[in-house]
Amino acid sequence: MSNGPKSFKDLMKRTTLRSEQGRQLKPIPRVQISEVELARRNQRLAEMKAFANKLRCPLCGAQLDGPVSWTDAKLTCVSNPDEYSVYYPGTGLAKQEIARVSNDYYIYELAYYLIGLNDDEVPEYNVIINQLDLTISVPQIREKNKKRLHYFTGVKVLPINKDLTADNILKKLEIYQIFS
Ligand SMILES: [Zn+2]
Repeated sequence: MSNGPKSFKDLMKRTTLRSEQGRQLKPIPRVQISEVELARRNQRLAEMKAFANKLRCPLCGAQLDGPVSWTDAKLTCVSNPDEYSVYYPGTGLAKQEIARVSNDYYIYELAYYLIGLNDDEVPEYNVIINQLDLTISVPQIREKNKKRLHYFTGVKVLPINKDLTADNILKKLEIYQIFS
């Protein structure tokens, strides 16, 4: 016989001992912030909330909703959360913006990820266009099978606004396919 555990009970005992060795964790240090810093954060939080309250869904005009902290805001369209979502790391430019429009067959997802400002001070983005097949009825499977149609880096050539439609995205893709 080997030197292994003699019974299931022995095995459990050994397992317990091993995991107890791994439990020697240090307590999480508490971050101490001064009254001044706390006041500054509360001020920033009030500014972020006021900023978020003024924002509207660029596609339908509805209000945006989501978690707002003193550092950032992650918001989605109230009337249709799938339609528009945006991430603001402060009250400046959005860091990430995702819009979805559809026709009878597909959902087109247009995503802008801010990289920075170019020499003309114009924001440039990683731009991704994805296609989701509406004949796939289970949303999770549809998400898993979404197809990347286009990826490029540049300025916002297809603004997210009330005029954004599946047709507009398709027309733009045609142009890219001709010239790329
Ligand atoms: Zn909307």
